[in-house]
Amino acid sequence: MNMLDSELVVASLRKQGYQLTDSIEEADALLFNTCSVREQAENKTYSHLGKLRQFKIDNPEKVIGVMGCMAQNHQKKIFQRAPYVDLIVGPGQLHQIPELIKKIEQGEGRQIEVSLGRRDGGREEIIRSHESFDPLRDPEMRPTPFQAFIRIQIGCDKFCTYCIVPSVRGPEQGRNPHDIIAEAKHLALHDTVEITLIGQTVNSYKAVDQDGKLWRMSDLLGELQEIDGIQRIKFVTNYPNDMTDDLLCAVRDLSKVSPYLHVPAQSGSERILKRMKRGYTVAQYRDMMHRIRETVPGAAVSSDFIVGFCGETDEEFQMTVDLVEECRFKNSFIFKYSEREGTKGAEMYDDDIPHHVKKERNNRLLEIQNQISLEDNQDMIGHTVDVLIEGISKTAIRKGEDTGPSVQLTGRTHCDRIVVCEGNPRQIGHILPMTIYETSPHTLFGEVVTEACGPELFGLG
Ligand code: SAH
Ligand code: SF4
Repeated sequence: MNMLDSELVVASLRKQGYQLTDSIEEADALLFNTCSVREQAENKTYSHLGKLRQFKIDNPEKVIGVMGCMAQNHQKKIFQRAPYVDLIVGPGQLHQIPELIKKIEQGEGRQIEVSLGRRDGGREEIIRSHESFDPLRDPEMRPTPFQAFIRIQIGCDKFCTYCIVPSVRGPEQGRNPHDIIAEAKHLALHDTVEITLIGQTVNSYKAVDQDGKLWRMSDLLGELQEIDGIQRIKFVTNYPNDMTDDLLCAVRDLSKVSPYLHVPAQSGSERILKRMKRGYTVAQYRDMMHRIRETVPGAAVSSDFIVGFCGETDEEFQMTVDLVEECRFKNSFIFKYSEREGTKGAEMYDDDIPHHVKKERNNRLLEIQNQISLEDNQDMIGHTVDVLIEGISKTAIRKGEDTGPSVQLTGRTHCDRIVVCEGNPRQIGHILPMTIYETSPHTLFGEVVTEACGPELFGLG
């Protein structure tokens, strides 16, 4: 979500004649796009801002801004901790940034624009204060112009007790499906081959169009499948309760839709899920996994987990381990619980699990997940898969080995597995068949199948 927001803000500033620069000395404005999901992310921003204190004294004309979730979460507190910040803009006001920078440059002083809080008005009023901002798609602003995020939903109404997102991103709203389809067509005309639909609970997407027709996620996928040029469609993040059969059938039947589902479980313990107010039981999550495996055999499923949530016992953590072992996720993102002021969790429960226990549980779960990822990846050795080449690998860039006709490239399979191979940078942006010959827990190593080998030999005909 933040990557897309950054793309759109930069595009709107470019329209005003700004350019991106890597050098803060050259910059007229420095903007931090921020996250509030965990405390560490906010601390990092304050630490970066702290480093600019002297810089701002030496360069008072430069505009320093904080945008995104932390701007909404901390609002004026940011001015208090870093009084030299000029601009605070919440996720619902990003479209105002060029105009606000202009005001600061014209001497109108500090600017702050944020949305209403979730208790600061009626629902419609709050919704109006969170504007969706998706007008400018500038391929040059994406690290890989052939891949693009499309926001289909903003906000969240689930209010899991640990989570700050509903407070900072506002009420859940599905975007007009015709706007989404028009945006996808526009992206396809500008050589985008892969789109990723994004929303906090993307599969809960629902919207009624001008003709009164109700659109579900599966309806949207059906329409997007028809767009020439788009070759892959992904969507994140899914909510377990809304993994409906019509959606699973769409994933199975629509060739462009990736058989890859990110469906966070968060915990394997009934009591902890209840405390988290996730709205499902472990048995319901298991049932959903079963339906995924039945309907879309071979699909890759990934998850998020929070370890050390308030009151989590060793036995309850073990239940999470058991769920990971049973579900065999492609990968899991594992987080140590971080208490967020203003959430129900912070209000109702003690953050009583010591940091070292959270850390131990995090490491243990990661180890188990890595072993599963490695075993499943090993099963792919000798198989041929289609890989979208995304760019030159980070290792090659770090070693300075990023030029020449043969460099280390990185890409992804239709199931979102990372593949590394040797190839020509001209292959970036193309989907190529590759044979997998080696693997680690998070990476497959492949070799591009050349046509001279005969496609039928590899079952590609
Ligand atoms: N909308 C998505 C997740 C958004 S936040 C969903 O519902 O799945 C991404 C992940 O961060 C969450 O899945 C959760 O695992 C983690 N997370 C959110 N709040 C957290 C907190 N307070 N402490 C630790 N991890 C948190
Ligand atoms: Fe946060 Fe829960 Fe909403 Fe995800 S579904 S954004 S975890 S409140």
